[in-house]
Amino acid sequence: MGSMTGKTAVVTGGSRGIGRAICLELARRGANVVFSYAGNTAAAEKTLAELKELGVEARAVQGDVADPAAAKALIDTAVKELGGIHILVNNAGITRDNLAMVLKEEDFDAVINTNLKGAFLCMKAAIRPMMKARYGRIVNMSSVVALRGNPGQINYCASKAGLIGMTKSLAKEMGARGITVNAVAPGYIATDMTAALPDAAREAMLSTIPANRPGTPEDVAAAVAFLASEEAGYITGQVLSVDGGMGM
Ligand code: NAP
Repeated sequence: MGSMTGKTAVVTGGSRGIGRAICLELARRGANVVFSYAGNTAAAEKTLAELKELGVEARAVQGDVADPAAAKALIDTAVKELGGIHILVNNAGITRDNLAMVLKEEDFDAVINTNLKGAFLCMKAAIRPMMKARYGRIVNMSSVVALRGNPGQINYCASKAGLIGMTKSLAKEMGARGITVNAVAPGYIATDMTAALPDAAREAMLSTIPANRPGTPEDVAAAVAFLASEEAGYITGQVLSVDGGMGM
């Protein structure tokens, strides 16, 4: 795959887990990286140091993606300090699991606001500079559960299914302007998010994976890097599953 030298990427939720692996993979390919995080400063500083060790320009920006001003400030950091935005990865996400009948309204809103509205706000801020440059690669982090549903996750599944609809719609709006918009749908990936699952739920999930192992953040990062590359310019509006066959 060709070099990403001279490109600037924005990755939301880049301090830990899948987002961190994406930042590092894009940097290894030569891209400068701006990433956001919610509040874990220690993790953000560690990722930032690792990015700088790879010899690229890097910035860590604390802020809630669901806050329009913070989303705009994140994209502005790339445009004003690192010369533009060529790649946007909407990765930041949270869970607030519960069965529908006891799910609190505030937990529904928090998940939709972070996972779905946050991605919209970042895309809205990124589109103008990408259109000016007639170049852009947007990758949205969906999930295997967007298409299958999952008990206890109606808020999360709705946000991840919504991301697919948003991906396809924006792909159609931007198709003629050199901007691609795709989604990645990871299965069960070993991160802090899944570490919170009860053992029984983890075992049940593992038994449904043909690859017979959980995925790694690096498995997802490789797929994102491909969709974010120049070579993927004729792929748009797609959902790429990275799930060891779990969603088949
Ligand atoms: P994670 O380990 O919990 O990391 C979440 C990241 O998002 C952290 O960097 C966190 O920042 C950041 N974040 C959370 N809320 C934010 C907000 N409001 N504004 C800005 N940043 C925020 O999660 P992960 O497992 O890597 O998941 C990453 C993405 O992949 C999520 O969208 C998730 O839904 C999706 N996904 C994960 C799996 C899986 O099995 N793990 C499967 C399918 C899809 P702090 O460090 O500051 O908290």
